Amino acid sequence: MATSSPIDVDLLIVGAGPTGLFAAYYAGFRDLKVAIVDSLPEAGGQVTAMYPEKMIFDVAGFPAVLGRDLIKALVEQADQFKPQYLLGKQAHELSEMDGRFEARLHDETVVRAGAVLITAGIGEFTPRPLPAGDGWLGRGVVHFVPELAVHKDQDVVVVGGGDSAFDWVLALHPIAASVKLVHRRAKFRAMPATVRQVEELGVPIITDAQVIELRGDADGLREVEISVKRDGADEPMVLPAQTVVAALGFTADLGPIESWGLELDHRAVTVDTTMKTVRDRIYAAGDVAQYPGKVKLIATGFGEAATAVNNIAVALNPDAHLFPGHSSNL
Ligand SMILES: Cc1cc2nc3c(=O)[nH]c(=O)nc-3n(C[C@H](O)[C@H](O)[C@H](O)COP(=O)(O)OP(=O)(O)OC[C@H]3O[C@@H](n4cnc5c(N)ncnc54)[C@H](O)[C@@H]3O)c2cc1C
Repeated sequence: MATSSPIDVDLLIVGAGPTGLFAAYYAGFRDLKVAIVDSLPEAGGQVTAMYPEKMIFDVAGFPAVLGRDLIKALVEQADQFKPQYLLGKQAHELSEMDGRFEARLHDETVVRAGAVLITAGIGEFTPRPLPAGDGWLGRGVVHFVPELAVHKDQDVVVVGGGDSAFDWVLALHPIAASVKLVHRRAKFRAMPATVRQVEELGVPIITDAQVIELRGDADGLREVEISVKRDGADEPMVLPAQTVVAALGFTADLGPIESWGLELDHRAVTVDTTMKTVRDRIYAAGDVAQYPGKVKLIATGFGEAATAVNNIAVALNPDAHLFPGHSSNL
């Protein structure tokens, strides 16, 4: 629902992925009032949407951290300064008047801010739909598995042949009653080591197969009919399923951000060494920020967030110091 009167903040952060969340902490540390908007209903960006149950091994200070736990810790860190979350809302239009920005969200909420930090990652991502899955999204068909426990003791069919499909099989196997993988080809895009792991678990892998129909009742999905190509003929097969995970990849799109008057390079926003875009008081950090030698990683986004926010603090108040002081002195 739209927030009726405009929200007034020092800094609007567009994107609540790991970079945006760390930026929200840092902006709070710099005494900036923050609103953080994301089109997804939950914070965490790619990590929450695509791999919450995977271990991440290259975040400084954590030899290994579960995606979900990293995001929980980032939210907790940011929450010390109470940023205003506007989740499930897309930042749509951005205009500038009398030295302040006005962002209009797709539900007509208006946010006014002295500066904008774009941490929109690869943009809004839209999962590729499951053919024959019309009308079943949210009634048995999912694209991501944010909460594994929901699928405890269920029969699950995972559709796809990439890393995500195999990762969901591995994550669901210990808790689901059964897991099967259905793929339309005989070859997989997933890493051979992951494919081997799934094979060693004895998970049925049905290749050269297409989903034909999903069937169920008012309580939800009950079974999936697939068509399997064998010796040139199509054989029907029915699999019990209360959940189908359609892991068919996604398309990503910067969408409205492309019309904000910024310089774009390879579907990312060009920044200088302060993380400033070509427009004053609009900065970018994380996967969405582009400069020579850029490496798109969570660790990089964290550093860029700190650089961006400290420079924003000075852009908003020229008397402020660029160096924030050490948090350990607080
Ligand atoms: C399967 C997989 C495994 C990975 N493993 C690792 C790993 O081991 N280590 C590592 O360092 N990195 C890994 N990465 C990459 C890592 O996830 C990204 O580098 C990181 O998520 C970038 O964070 P970000 O906050 O910049 O962007 P994102 O995580 O992409 O978050 C951006 C957010 O902005 C939102 N958004 C976009 N446009 C708008 C708009 N107009 N309005 C509102 N919201 C908007 C999106 O909804 C999204 O939530 C992996 C990625 C994938 C897909």
